[in-house]
Amino acid sequence: MRQKTKFRRKITKNYEKRAIFALQILNNFTNKKYAMASQEDVFKKLVAHCKEYGFVFPSSEIYDGVGAVYDYGQNGVELKNNIKKYWWDSMILLHENIVGIDAAIFMHPTTWKASGHVDAFNDPLIDNRDSKKRYRADVLIEEQLAKFDEKIEKECEKAAKRFGESFDKEMFIQTNGRVQEYVTKRTELHTRFANALNDNNLEELKQIILDYEIVCPISGTKNWTDVRQFNLMFSTEMGSTADGAMKIYLRPETAQGIFVNYLNVQKTGRMKIPFGIAQIGKAFRNEIVARQFIFRMREFEQMEMQFFVRPGDEMKWFEHWKSFRLKWHKALGLGDHKYRYHDHDKLAHYANAATDIEFEMPFGFKEVEGIHSRTNFDLSQHEQYSGKNIKYFDPELNQSYTPYVIETSIGVDRMFLSIMSAAYCEEKLEGGDSRVVLKLPAVLAPVKACIMPLVKKDGLPEKAREIMNQLKFDFKCAYDEKDSIGKRYRRQDAVGTPFCITVDHQTLEDGMVTIRHRDTMSQERVSINDLHGIIDAQVNMKNLFKKIVE
Ligand code: ATP
Repeated sequence: MRQKTKFRRKITKNYEKRAIFALQILNNFTNKKYAMASQEDVFKKLVAHCKEYGFVFPSSEIYDGVGAVYDYGQNGVELKNNIKKYWWDSMILLHENIVGIDAAIFMHPTTWKASGHVDAFNDPLIDNRDSKKRYRADVLIEEQLAKFDEKIEKECEKAAKRFGESFDKEMFIQTNGRVQEYVTKRTELHTRFANALNDNNLEELKQIILDYEIVCPISGTKNWTDVRQFNLMFSTEMGSTADGAMKIYLRPETAQGIFVNYLNVQKTGRMKIPFGIAQIGKAFRNEIVARQFIFRMREFEQMEMQFFVRPGDEMKWFEHWKSFRLKWHKALGLGDHKYRYHDHDKLAHYANAATDIEFEMPFGFKEVEGIHSRTNFDLSQHEQYSGKNIKYFDPELNQSYTPYVIETSIGVDRMFLSIMSAAYCEEKLEGGDSRVVLKLPAVLAPVKACIMPLVKKDGLPEKAREIMNQLKFDFKCAYDEKDSIGKRYRRQDAVGTPFCITVDHQTLEDGMVTIRHRDTMSQERVSINDLHGIIDAQVNMKNLFKKIVE
């Protein structure tokens, strides 16, 4: 979550990130370093692949792009739509007590006052007066911490070379005077930093930057402004100035669209507690430091579901949704070991439980989804600010109350990135050949099957078209007759198409085609009449849904 605690929540995360890094140093110093370097490489290749094969482009690239804004290309949009369908149907089809809405991006400005975003949806920023560049104060300090880590790392590398096989890293770190000096300094800095963040102490953040002589990477100077809170919401004006324009915000989360519609949906849908409202839509955050491709964007998409429950029942439902959401992720088959929960130690004042589902990205375990028990904070706030009665009369208890809420909130783009990172594979083949293949879950693949006539003559293209016309009502299909079959296979591997279907001269006689499976590259001869069943068995979402509810 976000408002009020956004600033403080990051602390716990940063703290943990640093702690993990320190642990890595102690545990498996050198190996880890090399592993991380090659992971970075893979990530770069993945970003390039996304562009080359029409998945993700920098926004308005012909004008050199806009920071942290991306467009989805012809394959990206199919994958994204499939992710959204997988989420939407898992909410709406599998639960008779969950309904969907599609609220507007523009909302009455009081919404954001009531939710707390106007006052507290902030990051701490600092400017360098010479370069005129803006930074996140916490990130500058984190980079300073990383410098200590690098120094420790360098000492270990030197010693490893000197001592060869007999080198004991852990022992070296614990006993070497210089390394111990770095460790102590790092710990001191870390403690000050964590305290400053916990206390929301902006003066102390600046003082740390001055004390550690942190300079602007551009100007090289220490000519810093004070640290200020920076609100992450984008604002604009609605109406002409002559009418008296109203300052409004681009929503930083979709959840508030659900809360302000709670009464409408509950009444018109005659919903009984417990029930949920789901929504997919764009959200906007003016992130100060936006990096790591589509992991942190300024315009992104969320899939959120707010589940309204009786006060007192929230922990039961929190556990339920935690487990349900993890099953949803795991059903995709990207590898169970790639997920973990990260329970929040520090909670927003109105929350009584919160956890993240993290996925192992090429740059480490990162939050993909948040599950929060938000008590009745949001509905109570809107009740107070709007003056409307947002109570629910529970006929079973014969009493009225403001419902409690369990929220599940996942970013479509982060989900997209996690799937792409797990799917991207470089393989060496027999005979010295190699291929890049996207081992996407077949249900999410942009194209399900590519139909290929072996040659562009002898009636094979016509037969291939005939097959495509049979399949295209149910599956997104591609047709390709250019280049050798081998090259065509590689093109489909690169976009993750699970099946290639080749039509040859024999097909015209016996109605059989060659179907080639993407991951194993195995081929088999099957009847045209069986194609629909073979493809459906792999790409039908029903298979995943059964796994989730069983
Ligand atoms: P972070 O700590 O990474 O900034 P957050 O905890 O602020 O994330 P939430 O407010 O809980 O995120 O939003 C729910 C989900 O929305 C996140 O789990 C993530 O998948 C997605 N999300 C949030 N901010 C961004 C962003 N800037 N770009 C892409 N996705 C985002």
